Amino acid sequence: MMQFRDLKRQYEALKEEIDAGISEVISAASFISGEKVGELEERLAEYVGVKHCITCANGTDALTLALTAWGIGAGDCAFVPDFTFFASAETIAARGATPVFVDVDKVTFNMDAVKLERAIQSVLKEGRFTPRAIVAVDLFGLPANYAEIRRIAEKYGLLVLEDGAQGFGGEYAGRKACSFGDISTTSFFPAKPLGCYGDGGAIFTDDDEAAELLRSLRIHGKGKSKYDNVRIGFNSRLDTIQAAVLLAKFKAFAEYELDAVNRVAERYTERLKDIVVTPAIPQDYRSSWAQYCILLDTEQQRDDLALYLKQKGIPTMVYYPKTMSEQQAFAGGAGASQELEISTWLCKTILALPMHPYLTDQEIDHVASQIEDFLSLPEHS
Ligand SMILES: *Cc1c(COP(=O)(O)O)cnc(C)c1O
Repeated sequence: MMQFRDLKRQYEALKEEIDAGISEVISAASFISGEKVGELEERLAEYVGVKHCITCANGTDALTLALTAWGIGAGDCAFVPDFTFFASAETIAARGATPVFVDVDKVTFNMDAVKLERAIQSVLKEGRFTPRAIVAVDLFGLPANYAEIRRIAEKYGLLVLEDGAQGFGGEYAGRKACSFGDISTTSFFPAKPLGCYGDGGAIFTDDDEAAELLRSLRIHGKGKSKYDNVRIGFNSRLDTIQAAVLLAKFKAFAEYELDAVNRVAERYTERLKDIVVTPAIPQDYRSSWAQYCILLDTEQQRDDLALYLKQKGIPTMVYYPKTMSEQQAFAGGAGASQELEISTWLCKTILALPMHPYLTDQEIDHVASQIEDFLSLPEHS
């Protein structure tokens, strides 16, 4: 049986460095805020091209810490894609603010800038909430349309929070993902483009004041020391063992894994572009391929293909089966949202194929051939 994201194969390739890093942490017995955490933060800030990287416990906390640093809460609203992972919107609501869902673009699956501006105008006209921020998501590894999003943010005086949980390693206009927000965040959940061996996350910013505040918030609102508490905060640190895993994995990620997933994507697209809708990467963008998703004609065809591939030992996933506006958790608690038809349609027709840097050409060709075979069956063509 093929793996959807083969973390065991990655471990086999990097075992020596990962094991050595973990052993060092155990020998030094500095499990919390050890040296490796600071080393990782320096490396990642340099790679992304921003002044500050602040690691934390997970990608959800990274979003919460950012929203907290900006004082976003009751009476405020933030604009977030209708088609994303729950945490992008959950964190807004958890702060007591209101998420306003915006439809996505049918080609990039990222926030539609035209619909974003219309949503902002309708919230302003309604006057129930104070618009504060745009939470832009780099879905499946592709950075959002930051030229337009930044232009709109400036026009309406909004902050940009880049949810780069899936985007780490992506690029747009010569800049790296996690550098596009006033604050940007990522996740090191094991299956993300850069994953650790548990939960982990990070926050990126050029803003010195925000960085200082975030460093305080993640450790119980500390002031000069851990036992000088100047505000109410959180306990949200990255374990030193996870930093050691990430240091080893980051080297491979930057040196060859990112190139490898791009080669996998190219080969899939070459094989599949004439029979299904394949992902399109606009000019000036690079994806880190958190997911490789194709679109089928109908929900029935998508579900039949997923079952067909499963029977052939090929795992697939549906990201995402439900839009944010359809989630029960937001029933009645979301701002006026209109025009969400692309998000709704994607939930019915999208299918994610096995994707990771260690897929062989043979495996890619096998998946593609099985999809070809399925679509050539008379009842599916
Ligand atoms: C995974 C993910 C998160 C949350 O990250 P965790 O580390 O699992 O908390 C947030 N936003 C998006 C878009 C994600 O894919």
